[in-house]
Amino acid sequence: MKIFKTRREFQQYALELKRAGKTIGLVPTMGFLHDGHMSLIDIARAKADVVMVSIFVNPTQFAPNEDFDRYPRDFDGDVAKCADHGADVIFAPEPGEMYDADASVWVEETSLSRPLCGRSRPTFYRGVTTVVAKLFLLAQPDYAVFGLKDAQQCFVIQKMVRDLDFPIEIIPAPLVRDSDGLALSSRNRYLSADERSRALSIHRALLTAKEEIISDRQAMAAAIEKAKSAIAAAGGRVDYVDILDCRTMEVPTADSRQVILAAAAFFGTTRLIDNEIFEI
Ligand code: AMP
Repeated sequence: MKIFKTRREFQQYALELKRAGKTIGLVPTMGFLHDGHMSLIDIARAKADVVMVSIFVNPTQFAPNEDFDRYPRDFDGDVAKCADHGADVIFAPEPGEMYDADASVWVEETSLSRPLCGRSRPTFYRGVTTVVAKLFLLAQPDYAVFGLKDAQQCFVIQKMVRDLDFPIEIIPAPLVRDSDGLALSSRNRYLSADERSRALSIHRALLTAKEEIISDRQAMAAAIEKAKSAIAAAGGRVDYVDILDCRTMEVPTADSRQVILAAAAFFGTTRLIDNEIFEI
């Protein structure tokens, strides 16, 4: 497995692979890898000749009051896991390597990125789209795999690829959960045992609301309020629970088919997100 630390060497290598006719699958991550990330690597492995994993905690998607400085890191563990799953290349730039000090260009999606996490983290998605656009130009992938754990992010990236004509197929990957239902996340590491068991309320509340909405579409607003109360009763501080049309990321209409029921809540200082995507 090759490990690159600089943009230029990584891009040069990717361009050589392209000239040699290889297909490339990219899995962008922030590291501290778990089985959710591994499922993305497995998908890329099945699709492409060369699998690249980027590991970069991207400062531009964190607000000043967020957890950039304490985001968990385990580079050696990550390398071992990537090797186990047959990745060929890791791109792991140092914090100062990814952006020039006077960088002044942003890539910003201005529609699908606005609700949900975009509302509570107003500068988050432009950080994500900017770094992912850069990673796409560096890695030259034919395929890029994004998890539906971060479904809004996946939709925003699909929109960016369409609107800016990146010649890349975005592959959405199913959300991977622990056996008790908690969505796997690097941030679960922050949770105490007590917070972790309380945090199970997020998925439970989403499942209950989903059933209620499927059986009676008119019950949407009430089901969402009930879900918020259930998470709050378990000790969570609810950021949002909302249901949106997956295509527009707007309030579902009579024409809506696929919807996303999404939640974000704090347990202690840890902000967790989860969602259920289904047809109505
Ligand atoms: P992160 O390292 O948290 O930025 O995530 C990197 C990629 O892994 C993103 O595409 C995430 O959506 C995906 N991912 C993270 N957790 C999960 C999970 N539990 N199931 C599926 N994909 C995930």
